[in-house]
Amino acid sequence: MGSEDGDISDYNNSHRAFLQVFLARSVMTFEEAQPILANILSVHDRPTHINDVDLPLFRSYIHTINAALSRLDYEIRHTIHQTDNSRRAVYALVNTTSDPQTQLATSLSADEVAFVKRVLDAMFDTHGGGHAGGREVFAVKEMEAIQLAKVPRGSNAARDSGVGMSNDGRNGETQQLPIVVGGSAAPITMQRAQEVLDQMVESGFFERSDAGYYSLGTRGLMELRAWLQETYDEPAQEGDTPEEVERGKRIRFCEACRDVATVGQRCANQECGFRLHDFCVQKFFHGRREKKCPKCNTEWTDKSFVGERAARGYAESRRRSGAGGRRSNATSRRTTNVGDEDSE
Ligand SMILES: [Zn+2]
Ligand SMILES: [Zn+2]
Repeated sequence: MGSEDGDISDYNNSHRAFLQVFLARSVMTFEEAQPILANILSVHDRPTHINDVDLPLFRSYIHTINAALSRLDYEIRHTIHQTDNSRRAVYALVNTTSDPQTQLATSLSADEVAFVKRVLDAMFDTHGGGHAGGREVFAVKEMEAIQLAKVPRGSNAARDSGVGMSNDGRNGETQQLPIVVGGSAAPITMQRAQEVLDQMVESGFFERSDAGYYSLGTRGLMELRAWLQETYDEPAQEGDTPEEVERGKRIRFCEACRDVATVGQRCANQECGFRLHDFCVQKFFHGRREKKCPKCNTEWTDKSFVGERAARGYAESRRRSGAGGRRSNATSRRTTNVGDEDSE
């Protein structure tokens, strides 16, 4: 028990049964896993009470399963939901090499996958900042997402305002958006688009906020992290200065916890890449004399946001949806109602 390095020779029927549980669920907390693992151990090994399943035992199971999965490019990873103040880790079985096309191919048609890709492009290209002063919303309003059921004609027809373009600042040319997967996607119906979005939320890939924004959910972030960087960060070119590399980044990490930050706060200096989750802000500045960005020395205002709060018209969206006062992610997170202790 408590062995930190997974040993594949430990792998037995109880590990197999526990892996089945991960296959069937999108994400799971330690508290949710406790009764399940107690039950599995009772069946395969010895009568086990829920309280006998402690964190070291749970982790040793995950280590052993991961040792068995490593050659298949699968892994059970954990992360903390970006806006979960209770800091509870969620665990999910993820494909470590995967892109959305591979991820979704078993449950969606090619045209539906292409629709999901257009929604991701809207989140990370159109609304992903990417130029100085760009709002890093990383979310799409419901109506805009549904509109993406149609395939935009031409690669830049989708955005006539120019916000969908990214300018890399080097040669002055505006880049075309990568709109479709495979290039020949057909439109889907708006009703089907809504169903696909619901399904994405159900599986934990997307979240829908009270204010009506879709964003990447915990599982999507865990599973697609490498792909997101590959797809939406501008590749560094030879001779780029560190500033140029920095400027080309869309997917940024919280400087406190080092996890992806698509919801949280940003440095008020629009050129600066310093990001913190909301719950990491307090921890980060605790004990420091001044609340200044350690990278560029700009005053930290708590008013520059990453995520849907950065969107134009966000306050209006919340008012209209009647989402006053509540945390915007409360309905979309399905892992909040078991236990209250930190699992980390
Ligand atoms: Zn953080
Ligand atoms: Zn800064």
